[in-house]
Amino acid sequence: RPTIVLFTRDLRVRDQPALAAAVDRGAPVVPLFVADPAITARAARNRIAYLCEALSDLRGALRAAGGGLVLRRGDTVRETIRVARETDAGRVHLSADVSAFASARSARLHREAAAAGVEVAEFPGVTVVPPGEPVPAGGDHYKVFTPYWRVWESCRRRDVVAAPTRLGLPPGIAEGGSPEDVLGGADEGVGDLSPLRQSGGERAARRRLSAWLSGGCSSYEQTHDDLAAAATSRLSADLRFGCLSPLEAAEAACATPGGRAWVRQLAWRDFHHQVTAAFPGIAVRDYRPRGARWRDDEEGLEAWRRGRTGVPIVDAGMRQLMSEGFMHNRARMITAAFLTRYLRVHWRNGAAHFHTLLTDGDIADNCGNWQWVAGTGNDTRPNRRFNLLRQSRRFDPEGTYIRRHVAELADLPGADVHTPWRARTPPIGYPKPLVELGE
Ligand code: FAD
Repeated sequence: RPTIVLFTRDLRVRDQPALAAAVDRGAPVVPLFVADPAITARAARNRIAYLCEALSDLRGALRAAGGGLVLRRGDTVRETIRVARETDAGRVHLSADVSAFASARSARLHREAAAAGVEVAEFPGVTVVPPGEPVPAGGDHYKVFTPYWRVWESCRRRDVVAAPTRLGLPPGIAEGGSPEDVLGGADEGVGDLSPLRQSGGERAARRRLSAWLSGGCSSYEQTHDDLAAAATSRLSADLRFGCLSPLEAAEAACATPGGRAWVRQLAWRDFHHQVTAAFPGIAVRDYRPRGARWRDDEEGLEAWRRGRTGVPIVDAGMRQLMSEGFMHNRARMITAAFLTRYLRVHWRNGAAHFHTLLTDGDIADNCGNWQWVAGTGNDTRPNRRFNLLRQSRRFDPEGTYIRRHVAELADLPGADVHTPWRARTPPIGYPKPLVELGE
């Protein structure tokens, strides 16, 4: 009997353990993706656009191997069981995932598939090291990154698996419409489509990975915080949708001189996933409640969202987010610190806004990092001071990043770009800072 491979956030053919295991069984394979309005109606338009491209690319790769990609729209579990009936499939393979939504979906799939006489098997592949694989003595997950990182490398046990070369859809199953058809086109999703957003798919992701490994990766440790240089990989959306295997990326980077500092970031990604697996409420509840008092400040929040706080480094980050559907990690920390530590607006508001625009928006990474910055997460120094002016001068010393993203400040010379309110002629059309910034 055929095996269904239910693709979710693992949109690739190379190093795709759920797919490889289905092919190994020898029976026909039915690759399936279900556009589930429970997800897509709430997803960022940037993510939906990326997803459309990723699905077209995946369909092309599966067809090139003699198969195809069945696309359906509806409730994931119901559609999967329906396709199992249509094809007489006896098994469903999928990649294990950690968010509250993914865990509930998987539990339902197991239940309803069993009732329909279909087996379900879950595989690794979303992270380098599966959540729950390194378990600390006396606990169910690592709460602090450094001890996790110490054991993480020795937990990379799985081998990278090759892409299948010979596939074939069972007779009588229609592939269905295009990705645009099933994803609801331009009407689906929230937020605006960013004009400079990154395009999606496994081929584009692999091109980006090899450019990165032969380019910036070796100097990542020295340059990654330089806002203007943009000296990071820009692979986060590719990893978020699984167009790139995190394990393959980690192995390739380990073989690159200086690559270990970058691999450490992949461990951060795994870290947040293992926290989320153990604490699925991460999107709504404080991981470490500290009794923080939050303010209602709708005006401040809106100014922050629109990049009009009057603090150049904050506005530059927020405007990069709007125009690219991406923001540099240092800028994410600065903008998140401004909202939670200076305006004292609840981190959930910031995380929600990031999620409506980030192409790489991911519950575990987004909420884990927001909580880290807000002091409710796994930071061992939750009360650390965050001096915005110091950050601005240190990580954008020439003001190049600010001038690139904040048009009103493009012609402001010298160091005034960090503190335009002090300029002899303050720039026209740029707001005064929402808060007083100490040196
Ligand atoms: P690189 O510096 O090249 O790093 C390589 C990869 O490592 C990234 O692609 C990413 O997958 C992973 N990574 C790097 N830093 C982190 C980190 N701190 N936590 C987890 N994974 C990391 N990342 C997301 O993928 N999705 C999000 O929704 C997200 N939200 C964030 C929100 C806030 C407030 C902050 C401070 C960080 C957030 N990050 C998120 C983490 C990080 O900012 C991005 O992964 C990174 O900026 C992506 O750029 P890059 O691919 O060039 O990263």
